[in-house]
Formats: sequence, structure tokens, C-alpha cells
Amino acid sequence: MENKSSSNFLKNIVTEDLKSGKADHIITRFPPEPNGYLHIGHAKSIILNFELADEFNGKTHLRFDDTNPAKEDTEYVESIKEDVLWLGYEWDDLFFASNYFEEMYNRAVLLIKKGKAYACDSTAEEIRLMRGSLTEPGQRSPSRDRSVEENLALFERMRQGEFKDGEKVLRAKIDMASPNINMRDPVLYRIAHATHHNTGDKWCIYPMYDYAHPLEDAIEGVTHSICTLEFEDHRPLYDWVIRECEMDNVPHQYEFARLNITNTVMSKRKLKQLVDEHVVDGWDDPRMPTISGLRRRGYTAEAIRNFAREIGVARADSVVDSKMLEHFIREDLKLKAPRTMAVLEPLKVVITNYPEAQIEMLEAEVNPENPEMGTRQIPFSRELYIEQEDFTENPPAKYHRLFPGNEVRLKNAYFIKCNDIVKDETGKVIELHCTYDPETKSGSGFTGRKVKGTIHWVEASQAVPAEFRLYEALILDEDMTDEASFLEHVNPKSLEISHGFVEPNIKDSKPQSKFQFFRHGYFNVDPLNSTHDHLVFNRIVSLKSSFEVKK
Ligand code: ATP
Ligand code: MG
Repeated sequence: MENKSSSNFLKNIVTEDLKSGKADHIITRFPPEPNGYLHIGHAKSIILNFELADEFNGKTHLRFDDTNPAKEDTEYVESIKEDVLWLGYEWDDLFFASNYFEEMYNRAVLLIKKGKAYACDSTAEEIRLMRGSLTEPGQRSPSRDRSVEENLALFERMRQGEFKDGEKVLRAKIDMASPNINMRDPVLYRIAHATHHNTGDKWCIYPMYDYAHPLEDAIEGVTHSICTLEFEDHRPLYDWVIRECEMDNVPHQYEFARLNITNTVMSKRKLKQLVDEHVVDGWDDPRMPTISGLRRRGYTAEAIRNFAREIGVARADSVVDSKMLEHFIREDLKLKAPRTMAVLEPLKVVITNYPEAQIEMLEAEVNPENPEMGTRQIPFSRELYIEQEDFTENPPAKYHRLFPGNEVRLKNAYFIKCNDIVKDETGKVIELHCTYDPETKSGSGFTGRKVKGTIHWVEASQAVPAEFRLYEALILDEDMTDEASFLEHVNPKSLEISHGFVEPNIKDSKPQSKFQFFRHGYFNVDPLNSTHDHLVFNRIVSLKSSFEVKK
């Protein structure tokens, strides 16, 4: 497939910059805040940054933007590293923004000395009220005209812990009448008496994103700092910080449209809410759009990369159909996944004319679309399981599966005909008595008559019990995903569990092994809950798709 992400507008910018001499090399970065697990939106950013740099023989840094002690944790740091590597990318360097706190502090002192920053006594609420609006200028803080000496002393005392949280902030002195509200004396530092995962209790003042991020980029020599569109209006402030802090390296910020997917919440805050309120079973719940959730569900890194390349990189917001992601995992597994039969809701079948105590081995291809995968042996005997839904006593029109008197093909085996049914005391059908026709063996070239239905089955004596977890969209409403009320749209049927059987030839499957179960879709052996004695399969995706990639 054509690599669309590399033929994006950012590639044109880099090409121009290299040609004009604005840059003589390229360094990008992926800068997650370690306050949650990565999601599929982050994957888009990772793939973009790493592949863009790679294309121009550049470098990409993994940088933890860990400037907010309250929400960050080393658990997140570790999961983020694991996910980036799993996606297939190796950073050239690994950095923590918190290692630059001293330098950031010194640059803030420089700003104060230049009369470009001041310690402000206003509360967060006062600052908000005095910020003005799109039509009205903001009001100057009473602290704005403090002397350089006073500001230096106050900033030092802020650092020494002499003030409580919220009692003072350090603000840039730019322009309270700027049409860009971000330029109206933005806060650069706030006080937070909190223990930081990396710096411990060394600091009680922490830099704000708009101040920290450009400095981080400059310190690392990043050339192209790529972020999502909501930061477009922050770009003048980004450039102001770089210029006024007199950084040697001058990085530039570029914006692209974030990834949105139908029926999917994609913000760490909301994903954390789903975890904390036990709506899901952790960050790696297979229903989550996190990288770890997708991996556990059975998505491959290759499928995610192909998906990201196909959606490309644009400067206009859009919402991608969740079916598109499903399309790419089907594509990836089509030739790779062995095919086998699994019965999710078993119904016993006795073949009354098959010799008792006889087991024969039938042969079938592991993957008919990929003959190189060879063949497999499937046991067949007098007792089998079929799917409950493949039998009905009272067939509706055009029902071609089993019903009394009807004949169907057992996939890879024989034709069978249903003659009798056995019910329990409640009237539920618990067993079918069928006869098979030895002439109709699969692969024998039998042309005597045709049947309309083909159903799957598993031989009873060697069937391996298994648990199947079937998933539906976690969020039911397509577009309400950004509403505060998203929890009201959680699908109560997002997980359905059934217990059935798989063929014996996959009984030793390792965690994360992937299969196509005939008619049911693609499944993955759950890495956490599946054991040799209790196999658990997560359905990655069903087989049917209405999605077409436009060429
Ligand atoms: P969220 O809003 O989901 O919490 P974030 O932007 O706060 O995400 P960060 O850890 O700050 O999370 O993001 C790291 C990088 O990933 C940033 O460069 C950000 O632009 C990018 N990113 C985050 N979400 C998306 C998305 N949905 N699509 C593309 N890129 C994204
Ligand atoms: Mg964030």
C-alpha cells in the first residue's frame, strides 16, 4: 500500500526546510504526558513523528512531558515505552522534561531580568475573570508593575516553598490587549506542593505546558515540533518563549488534525474514568482504544500502522469510521491466521450410523487462502458438537441449516441429516440424532446431490473447552463521544461471554496466538486470563465487513 502518511503536508514542509537551508537535519519527538496509557490517537502521532524523521534520515526522541506531578506515575512511563516499542518504533533518545527543571527555572529568571515576567498575586479565578474575551481586552494585574528585584525575590521564595498552592504564579508580561488570548500574560509557573515521580520533593513550582514545551523542544534540538490543531493559537506563545528565553536552537511548531473515531472516547481523562469507575477491567481491557487494549484484543502493530498510513495526516478535523480499523486487522490476519473451527454455544449431535469407538482423522488446509501453511488433522467420530443456532425445530423460510429432516454439510467432513431430537424436561433441545452419508466425504469429489447449508462442528471426545469473549462497541452513540455524559452511552452488552469448544489441534496455543474461527471471525488467545487448562479467546473482529477502502 502507498505510504500516505509520508506523502503528507509535513513531508512537504520538511523537504522545503532542507532545501532552503532553514534546517540541515530533522529531529522530531513524541512527547506524551505520563498520566495514562497510550491510545490509538497517540499511535497516529507516534507513527507520524517516527516515519517523518526516518524518511529524512532524522531522529525521533521519546520525551516524557512530566511537568504535572499530581497525575503522573511511573506505571504510565513503563506502559508508554512498551507500547511505542510494540508499535515497532525505537527512539533515538529518551528524555524526561523534569530533568530540565533547573534550566527552565534559570530561563524564567532571565525573563524576569528582562522585564518579561512577573510574580502575580491574583488567584486563578481572578486571572480568569481579568483575561477579557475575544471582543474585550484583558485587565492588567495589580502585580504587573513590580520591580525586577521584587520579582526575582518573590520567584526565589516561590521556589523555596514559602507560599501555598495558588498563592502566587509567575506570568509572562506580554500584552493584555492582544487579540490572541494566549498572549495575555499567560501563567508560566504555578505552585504545587506535590511529590513528583522523578524529582521527588525537590520542586514545589512547576512550569506550565506553554512555557515548558517549547523549552523542551529547544533543549533537545528538535527541529519540527508536531502537535494537534488545538495548539495552533498557542504557536505565537511558543515562538515568544523560544525567542525571549534566548534559546540556541529554534524549533518550529506544526499542527495536524487529531484522530477521532466513531463510537470511541479518545481522551486519557475519559479513559481513566472508565478504568476508575470499573466500567472496564483496566487500561488494557480489550474494549479500550488503548494500544494495550487493542493488543490484548488481538490487534497487530502492523494493522495499526497500516490504518494510520491510510488515514494519513491532514489539517482538517474529521472522524474516522471505526469499521476502518477493523478492516485493517482483517486484512492483516487474512493470510497469517490459521483457520479452525470453534463452537461457541454447543449442541450435542450423535451420528447414529457411525461406528461406536471409531475416530477417523480428516484432513483440511490450515488456511485455504495461503496453501503454504499446510494441512491439519481434524478428528471425526460418532459424537460432535455443533452451534445451537445452527439448528431449529421450526425453520423460517430460507433457513438452510439443520432442522428435522434436513441435510447439511459439515465443514471439512460429511453430509448429515437430522432424524430425531432429544429434549430435556423443560422442552429445550439437548441432543440431535443424525445420520451421515459416507459417500459425501469432503474432498472425495462427491456430486450426487447438493445441500444448501454448511455448518461447523467439533468432535466431542477430543474437543477442548474454551471461553469466548465477544465484544461490541463500548460507546453506543456515534457522535456524543465528546459530551460530558459519555458514561450514559456505555453499551451494556459490550462484552458477552460464552463457553464452548475448539478443535484439539489448537489446545497448546500460546497467549496472543491468533486464529480465524470458521464463520465467527478472528480471535486472540487472551494474554492475561488464558491458561493451558482454561483457554480464553477474545474476538478481535467478526468476518463480515461493509467497509471498503477507497482507492
Ligand atoms: P488526551 O487528550 O487523549 O489526553 P493528550 O494530547 O493530552 O491526549 P499527550 O500525552 O499530551 O496526550 O499527547 C502526546 C502526543 O500525542 C501529543 O503530541 C498529542 O498531540 C498527540 N495526540 C494525543 N491525542 C491524539 C489524537 N487523538 N490524535 C493524534 N495525536 C494525538
Ligand atoms: Mg493532555
